[in-house]
Amino acid sequence: MGIDQSKYGMSFDCLFDAHWKCMSIIRCTKCGTVVEYYYDEDYEPNFRCPICTDYKTGYVYYTKEQIEASEELKEIIKMYEELQKQDQERYERKEKSLIKEAKNR
Ligand SMILES: [Zn+2]
Repeated sequence: MGIDQSKYGMSFDCLFDAHWKCMSIIRCTKCGTVVEYYYDEDYEPNFRCPICTDYKTGYVYYTKEQIEASEELKEIIKMYEELQKQDQERYERKEKSLIKEAKNR
């Protein structure tokens, strides 16, 4: 079903989304490279994983090897994932309470 985007270095998981600064932390599902992806004026519409392809990017990225070798990077990524989880939970709670309110109206 559909095109396997990972073949083209275009399959990413979003670890964290900082909408207020138009920045996401994304991870290539194929090679595990983590990228600070911007979708403001620095937006790169054809962005692909620089490790899986020969794409040249201005974004900061860390390869899986770099991450595995650095406790600091591991901590930072864990922090992002934790923040995202909290954000998601907050959002779901809010959504539930809004639905309940609407029903009670
Ligand atoms: Zn990759």
